[in-house]
Order: sequence, then C-alpha cells, then structure tokens
Amino acid sequence: MFLMVSEVTLAERDSDPIHAVAARLGVSIASAVAVKRSLDARGHRPRWLAVCKVEIADRDAARVEGLHGVRRWSQRDEERYGEPEALVPRVRRWSGPPVVVVGSGPAGLFAARTLGDAGVPVVLLERGQAVEQRVPEVKDFWKRRKPLDPENNLLFGEGGAGTFSDGKLTTRRRDGEVGQIMRYLVEVGADPSILETAHAHLGTDALRKILPTLRARLGELGVEVRFGARVVDLIVERGRCAGVVLASGERVAAHAVLVAAGHSARDTLEMMVRRGARAVARPMAVGVRIEHPQRVIDEARYGRRAGEGLPPASYRLTWSPPGQARRAHTFCMCPGGTVVPAVNAAERLVVNGMSYAARGGSWANSAVVVGIQPQDFGGTGPLAGYAWQDALEARAFAVAGDWRAPAQRVVDFLADRGSASLPRSSYPMGIVSHPLAALFPPGLVAGLKGALLHFDSQLAGFAGEEALLIAPESRTTSPVRLLRGDDRQSEGLPGLYPVGEGAGYGGGIISTALDGLKAARAVIAAAG
Ligand SMILES: Cc1cc2nc3c(=O)[nH]c(=O)nc-3n(C[C@H](O)[C@H](O)[C@H](O)COP(=O)(O)OP(=O)(O)OC[C@H]3O[C@@H](n4cnc5c(N)ncnc54)[C@H](O)[C@@H]3O)c2cc1C
Repeated sequence: MFLMVSEVTLAERDSDPIHAVAARLGVSIASAVAVKRSLDARGHRPRWLAVCKVEIADRDAARVEGLHGVRRWSQRDEERYGEPEALVPRVRRWSGPPVVVVGSGPAGLFAARTLGDAGVPVVLLERGQAVEQRVPEVKDFWKRRKPLDPENNLLFGEGGAGTFSDGKLTTRRRDGEVGQIMRYLVEVGADPSILETAHAHLGTDALRKILPTLRARLGELGVEVRFGARVVDLIVERGRCAGVVLASGERVAAHAVLVAAGHSARDTLEMMVRRGARAVARPMAVGVRIEHPQRVIDEARYGRRAGEGLPPASYRLTWSPPGQARRAHTFCMCPGGTVVPAVNAAERLVVNGMSYAARGGSWANSAVVVGIQPQDFGGTGPLAGYAWQDALEARAFAVAGDWRAPAQRVVDFLADRGSASLPRSSYPMGIVSHPLAALFPPGLVAGLKGALLHFDSQLAGFAGEEALLIAPESRTTSPVRLLRGDDRQSEGLPGLYPVGEGAGYGGGIISTALDGLKAARAVIAAAG
C-alpha cells in the first residue's frame, strides 16, 4: 500500500528520500518518491523538507500509520500529485476557418497548445520575433545601445513578457490544469524538479531553451506559428469577431479570436475596445525596484548559516496599515538577479527583474509596490490607467534622457535628500541619482516610505545603507479589464476571447497560462 509521509528532512535538496523515510518510520519500505520539496527557512537551521509517496508492506503500514505526518495515500493525493488525465478530449472533426491566437506569451502559448492537443487548427500570431532573433536584439539594446525595436524587445516576442524573467512558477498546485501546465513545461525541457519543488522557478536561460522546443511541439500538433505578425484590427461580421487584420494588410479569417496581447500592447487593447469589447479600469500597484547585495538577504534569512551552500534567499513581504492608508507588498523577487529595462516604447522607462536558473548573481531585487485605484488615474474611461502609466514612464525617461534609470539609496529616499553617490547595480544600462519622490504622487511616496520601514523591521537591512531603489516599476499588471461572460467571450463582441494579463486576467506565468488553457477549452466547448 501507499502512504503519504510529510516533513521528511533531506540532507540536500536533491537527496533521494528513501533512507530518510526508512529511518523516520523505522521499518523497511519498497520505495519513496518525493512529490514536493521545499526549503524551511524558519528557525536557526534552514532545512530541506519533502512530502513523499511511500510504498510499504501492509503489515508494516499498520504499524506506522497515524504517526505524526504519516497517513494513507488518498484519492485526493493522487489527484494532486499523480499523473493528470487528459483534460481536453479531441474534437471529432473541424470544418471552417482556424482559431486565431494573438500573442505568444504564456496565455497564448498554452491556449494554442490546448487547442492543438484537441485537434483544432490554430494560427498563432506574434508581433515580435522568435527567441533566436529576440535574445540578440535585447542584448544589443542593453550592451551596445542599439535603438529600441518597438516590435521585438523584452516585452514583445516569443514567450512574451516572461522570457526575460526569473521564471517563477507561482503556485502550490500540481493537480488538475496547473499540473497539466507543469507537465507540458517538463515535456518541452523544463527541469522535472518543478513538479515537486514548492517555489519552483525556471530562469531566463532555461526559458530561452524551452521555447524553441515548445514551438516545435506546437508545429507537430499542426499549429501554424507566425512571427513579425502584428494584429492591427479585428474583422467584425454581423456583430461577431470573424478574424484579424495584420499590419501588412493581410486578413486572416477565424472561427474565434483569442487575444493574449499582454499588459504592454496598449495599441491592441485600445483597438479591441474601439471594436466594441466592453472594458473597465481596474486597480493596479506601482512603485520601485529595490536592490540589495544578495549577501544582505542571505544573512537576514539564514543568519549564521548564510554562505553554507544554501540557495540564494528570497522574501515576500506585505504591509497593510490600519485605516485608509495604502497597502504595499513586494513582488516578483529575483534572488541572484538583474534589474532590467522592461520597455517597448521610445522615451518611456520601466524597470523589472529577471534571474538565470542558477540565481548566481551578486544582487537580489524585488518590486516594492503600492496599490492605486482607478480614481487615482485622474482620467475617465476604461483606458485612463494607460495615460497615467505613460506619464510616469515619460517622466522617468526624461531624468536622463536615455535608458539610464533614476535611482536613490533607500536611506536618502526616507530622509528626503538626494544621493551623493550610488552603490553598484546590476541594471545593465546605467543608473543616475535622482530624488524618486519627484516621480510619484505624494500619497504613493508616503506608502512607499511606510512600507520600506515596515519591511526593514521584518528583514534586517532591507532599508539599510546598501539598499538601492530604481524606478519606476509601473507595469506590475494591467490597469484595464476586458469584460467577458461565463463562456469567456467578450462582452460586446462575441467570437473574441480576451485572455491573459493584458485583458486583466492573471498576473504571472502560471495564472496567465491557466487562463489561456481555460479559454481554449471554452472555444472547444462552444464549438460543440
Ligand atoms: C521582466 C519580467 C519578469 C517577470 N518575472 C515573472 C516571474 O518570475 N514569474 C511570473 O509568474 N511572472 C513574471 N512576470 C510576469 C509574466 O511574464 C506575465 O504575467 C506573463 O508573461 C503574462 O502573460 P500573457 O501571455 O498574458 O502576456 P505576455 O507574456 O505579455 O505576452 C503577450 C504577447 O503578445 C504579443 N502581442 C501583443 N500585441 C500583439 C499584436 N497586436 N499582434 C501580435 N502579437 C501581439 C506580444 O509581443 C507578447 O509576446 C515577469 C514579467 C516581466 C516583464
């Protein structure tokens, strides 16, 4: 029979758990497989823990069942950790035009994959380029100051916004559709450990390898993937979305159109609203990226064990002050990472963070963001948040007049004084000293200050001498939501499926991939 044994202490992250489980239970076991591994950094001695599926003789099971953390392996465990069943049955036959998917970020890719698996013909249109052309373009922009390509950059191109990221897979789930997504990722080259690691991440280098394999797999499923294919309009026939128009003038007829354009394709979002898709403004969070030497974070989290071969430490902090004050949180923390210019438009500056799989860099960075409401945007209509973001990003660019980012030491930001000198930073295009309070509205500055002080009380050194702020982190999510019905079609324009982060659904690789997968299933269900 099988038992679930939790809190198995491992010598190292990748240790085979069989000896630890046998020692813990004090009986012989046939097999032990870790279904989840996590680092427990509480207390003085951080340790690797595993949850294991253990095969054991019935008579021995009777002796140990009921011990702390030991119980029978249940149907629920099987659903959560076992192999998922095929979730989408194949369509029997498909006549008529293909389904068009716009955007090859996580939402578009997993929508295309799900449709392809079901035998639905798909055309996947991406305005940017394949990673083989995209990565050198971004590197030339950073390192050789090659002019920004507005169609092929850190935000646009194969893999979408997540390609140059830490590749954090932010979910505890491994069951159902999320399990399916994780297994898709492993199938195209992700490290199988993501199936069992609690806070799994891929790293930008791994993502760049996974994407061509994923593309090839889509090709095998009959998905036509086209790069340099920017959608500029929708074909609307008898009140229904019936295809798309490309910048080249080409018209592509579609059975249904899934638009997964991301939070930075403002032109595409505006076009959908102009074509009748109903939308509302929604809250978002805005602020700065904070950077510390990774050593500071390791010492704060691991204490004396810092430097003893433990992985670079991370954190996740929140601040909810009483009363009406703004809430704040850290977001998209990148251990051993790099602060990057996350830009797709001329004379606009936005920062974000990424890491490689090894997280081996000298710095740790994270967003520190404060919530803002649609009434703060100062405009009316569903797209008012874009104008607010745009003005902030233009102010930030104007500080240096190029891609160098405004920066200030945390201690100086808190004391309302300029930074006479700046520490070294991972940001690849240079930083310039600037009082960051001048970029933001006063309420947001007060929120940032309160949060920094609070986070410093939780993580020693967070607001210390070595901490640096780089700004602005203005695109944490989309400030607009395209409304859709229970069938996931646009309210106002049937046949159009607004999907993923740009449409206001999900924020992050897994949540947007899940939204794409579910939208694909809705298209299949609607087709009967
Ligand atoms: C630097 C950075 C680091 C991040 N780190 C993480 C992380 O570690 N973990 C995490 O979970 N999330 C992370 N995120 C967020 C995550 O990447 C996004 O939430 C996710 O990529 C959104 O997926 P999406 O498919 O909705 O849109 P996107 O990934 O933005 O993809 C949209 C795609 O649509 C294309 N497109 C847009 N308009 C058109 C058009 N008109 N015609 C054709 N194609 C079009 C774009 O070129 C783009 O490729 C990070 C984001 C950034 C920028």
